[in-house]
Amino acid sequence: MRKISADYIFPIASEPIKNGIITIDDDGAILSVESMSGIGHPTSDIQHYEGIICPGFINTHCHLELSHMHSQVSENAGMTGFIKELLGKRTSFSENQIQDAIAHADAEMVKNGIVAVGDISNNNDTFKQKSNSSIFYHTFIEVFDFNPDKADEIFANAINLGKQLKELPHSIVPHAPYSVSEKLFRLISEEAVKKNALISIHNQESLEESELFISHSGAMFEAFSRMGINMEIIPKTGLNSLRTIFPKLPLSQKILFVHNTFTTKEDLQWIKSNISNLISNIYFCTCPNANLYIENKLPDYNIFINENACVTIGTDSLASNWSLSILDEIKTIAKHYPQIPLQTLLTWATKNGAKFLGLNQLGTIEKGKKPGLNLLKNLDGMMITEKTEVVKLA
Ligand SMILES: [Zn+2]
Repeated sequence: MRKISADYIFPIASEPIKNGIITIDDDGAILSVESMSGIGHPTSDIQHYEGIICPGFINTHCHLELSHMHSQVSENAGMTGFIKELLGKRTSFSENQIQDAIAHADAEMVKNGIVAVGDISNNNDTFKQKSNSSIFYHTFIEVFDFNPDKADEIFANAINLGKQLKELPHSIVPHAPYSVSEKLFRLISEEAVKKNALISIHNQESLEESELFISHSGAMFEAFSRMGINMEIIPKTGLNSLRTIFPKLPLSQKILFVHNTFTTKEDLQWIKSNISNLISNIYFCTCPNANLYIENKLPDYNIFINENACVTIGTDSLASNWSLSILDEIKTIAKHYPQIPLQTLLTWATKNGAKFLGLNQLGTIEKGKKPGLNLLKNLDGMMITEKTEVVKLA
């Protein structure tokens, strides 16, 4: 049993507690959370830390299998340029290099206080590491193909890939609005409803993907045309990518939209008008450092806050990021949006992600839960700064 205290405890389930004390058992389960005044005189068996303590971080979007691509893709290449470079360089690595990079990235996330990850897989490279890791992984088996004639085959392959994960949690998900045929969307949706599965999809990461649907124009349209793809397969709808694919998603399931860099207030209001349970079923994952890496643009966080959207945080992959650290993502948001309260940022980084992944034991510091405990030190008052560090306490 340990008693841990800090200048502030952020249980996230409730308001911050000044000089709060957390008692945990040897397995890290929370026995109590209380304020110093609640226990009378502080006793010498309390470990006190300068800084704040929050629950373990939840990373809702990662591609662990791309870890060996660290520093391989140019910054600010734009979405189409990024995909092109990634595909060009992805195959020139040995099995050992790939596995070492995956193990290293998993260890990096543990050290950075991440306790659960929603991770995209296109192959089985990460499965061994996931089965041995202390991190909880939900694997999103990602599929993409424009050609409706190949949908059955692609989907069957995804089912088989999922079988290799055995008991490890997983679901089959579409890559992005622009890379999945109507038929493949239908197969994914039917399976998701049948299995009560979680859905994740890259969304509005670039303007190019919306131009594709609105007017059959732009960099992505031109790149696909040059690749010899029959562009009649992609419908010209006059609507942006989100509005085009929204009706194809299994709206009874929890859905995570990832990136949302170009999502507007009108888009969020449009979703609300089309679905009554926006708060409970739709989640918006932001990956700010990847957005800066690829497009050099951040989402407008104010609209998500004003529309009461449920925001989560992801690191994306080391192909498009400098680190796998939720704290580093928070630092970027705090730097550009200093007015967002710390309690809000930490809610995005912990509770909301745990809720999306359905992890009742994680995300908040409450009696009976085992959320992991992160000490954040070197804050400036209640502000996260460049100097802030995370230390995993439990
Ligand atoms: Zn991604």
